Parts: sequence; C-alpha cells; structure tokens
Amino acid sequence: MLYRPYGKTDKSVSIIGFGGMRFLEEEFKEGNYDKCAELIMYARDKGINYFDTAPLYCGDQSEKIMGYAFKQMKKDFYVATKTSTHVTGDKTRDDVLRRIETSLSRLQVDHIDFMHLWCVLDYEMFKTYTRKGGIFEGFLEAKKRGLIQHIALSTHAGGEEIEKMLETNLFEGVLLGYNATNFAFREKGLEAAKRLKCAVVTMNPLGGGLIPQHEDFYDFLKKDEEDTVAKAAIRFNASHPEITVTLCGFESKSQVDEACLAVKDLKAITEEEKIQIKLHLSEALNNVCTGCGYCDGCPKGIAIPKLMDAYNQFILTERKDRIMSRINNHWQIEVPKGGAASCSACGKCEKVCTQKLPIIKRLGEIAAL
Ligand code: SF4
Ligand code: SF4
Repeated sequence: MLYRPYGKTDKSVSIIGFGGMRFLEEEFKEGNYDKCAELIMYARDKGINYFDTAPLYCGDQSEKIMGYAFKQMKKDFYVATKTSTHVTGDKTRDDVLRRIETSLSRLQVDHIDFMHLWCVLDYEMFKTYTRKGGIFEGFLEAKKRGLIQHIALSTHAGGEEIEKMLETNLFEGVLLGYNATNFAFREKGLEAAKRLKCAVVTMNPLGGGLIPQHEDFYDFLKKDEEDTVAKAAIRFNASHPEITVTLCGFESKSQVDEACLAVKDLKAITEEEKIQIKLHLSEALNNVCTGCGYCDGCPKGIAIPKLMDAYNQFILTERKDRIMSRINNHWQIEVPKGGAASCSACGKCEKVCTQKLPIIKRLGEIAAL
C-alpha cells in the first residue's frame, strides 16, 4: 500500500480508503457486526488506514459497525465522519457538538481525525453554514475541545465553486466525487486543492456502479486483457498525485483485494492520458446519474434514482428503448404507480441532485415513452 500526506497535516494516509457505506444488510442486521468488523480488520491488515463513515449510512448502522471493529483494533488508523444541516438536520453549533459526541461514542474513539462539513451542494449553502452563528462554529468549538483534529469539506459542487470554498482556507481537506466519467466537472477543484496544499479524498470512483456495469463502454480504461474495468477506474483516481485517498465502498474481502491490486506499481497519470480519456467521453457523460440517492423521498413516490439510472442507459447507448427495458426488466417498476408521469415539477429533487441533473425534463421524456 502506498501512503500520501493528508494536506499540510502530519498524517500519512493510505491511497485506498475504506468507504463505510456499502456493508451488506444481511451481514449487519439484528446488530451482529462480526462479519462487517472482520472486513474492516482485513482492510487494515492490507494496509488501509483511512476509514470513512457517516451517520445514516447503512440504515444509520455504519458508525456503530466501525466502532465495533475499532474497539478490537490497535489505534493505528484514521477515522472520518460527517454532519450538516442538509443531511442530518443539525441546525446550530450545539447540535453539531451533540452530533460529534454521538459519533465519538458510536465509533468508540476519543477523537475524530477528519470531521466533514457534509454534502455542501453549492456556494450558497456553504455561505449559510460558515456565516457567523452558523453550524461551522460547532466544528471550530469541537476542534478547540480536542474532539476532532481536522476539518474537511464534503461537497458535490462543481470545480469552480469548490475552488471558491477552499480559498476561504477553512479546510484542511476536501471530499469530492471524482471518477473517469465526471472528472472534467471537478478538475478545477482538484487544481485549487493542490495549489492550497489541501488533501483530496475522492468518493465514488466507480460512478455508483455505472462504470463496471458498462464494461464494454469503459473498456478503453483497461491497461491489458487481464485488467478489469473496476480496477482500472480505481487506478484512474489513485494515479492523480494530487488525490490523497480514493475511497472504495467495500462489501467483501475480494473487493478489498481488487482495490489493493489496482494501485500496485502505480504510475502517475499524464496530461496526455487524461486527454485521451476525455476523447472517449462525450460531454453528455458529465450528465449521468451516479446513483447517490440524495434525491430519494419524492412526495409523489417516484423512484427517481432508479428512473435516472434507466435514463443513463440512453446516454451511454443513444438508444431510447434501453430506458424502458431497464425500467421493466432490471428495476421492475410499476407504471404509473411511482412512474415518471406523476411528477408535479415541485423541484425538490433537482435542488438536492449532486450532479445537477435536469430530473424533471428527463422524467418528462421517460413519461412520453
Ligand atoms: S420534481 Fe417531480 S420527481 Fe422531483 S420531487 Fe417533485 S414531484 Fe418528485
Ligand atoms: S438523480 Fe442526482 S441526486 Fe438522484 S441519484 Fe442521480 S445523481 Fe444522485
């Protein structure tokens, strides 16, 4: 395993990080965390020392699962978690402090190494959180009390907005979505982080499963016949010297092995290679749904992430019939119940969409089919 310094801090973190959002439900239901803990310890044995979690992940169990594993481990790893009004409903400085106390007790550690201001969707939201009297004051107070060591930004904004947020110098690291599909959208943010000596942790290297689901389309990422698209996509992120950690959401030991293999004999990506990859990607690929699920909870009961996943098929193949076959055969969504036509255009989903997708327009196109 290779290690990189986390920004200007004294911490050296593994270039592959453990994303704690994909534990298998059958392996943690009824509060038996042994199998999940085994996976966490396996990853640590493989050299992974950066563990990322959050409240609400895995039905709000992820922090507890991690804590269950951590109490059996030597404290030679780093833990990252998150909070914000937008996702966890913390509205005041004191709410944030209470949240951090809860995370500490769930994680069974005496401090959090990297605490994230979570899921900042745009600069307006950032300004609200960081204004005088805003929730960011809770982060500063927690740091003063030694409950957290470093404050990082977690964002789904575009590169230019990320640059503006980082230039405030409030953060030592940034967590952002970056992969072989959407990287052009956030390149500016990466450049800013490098200039400001801010650590960069990337999430979603497999595009929410989109990349391995389309082996043929992403074949160009592979370096040889024995390579897999999943490995190639992880390597793509890790091969950026300015990316400190590439988070992978692990479900099994074989996935841990695959990620570790992906970064064996790693070489830095060149500008020429990035240009070649861009040539394979059309502009449209900045507009795929990554399946993050933030738009879930439509008042009309529309299964937005599933329908947007179906629309991805059209973007990738330019065949509209693929949308309906995905809806009918893969997702088996009943139409009209939960179907696209019941959208009232209230705009709730578009406001939170991490990819800024025109969901209402796409639902209209799907309804017309
Ligand atoms: S705009 Fe349509 S799909 Fe989105 S939340 Fe409102 S009703 Fe649901
Ligand atoms: S539509 Fe947007 S918010 Fe919803 S799952 Fe896709 S990318 Fe995420």
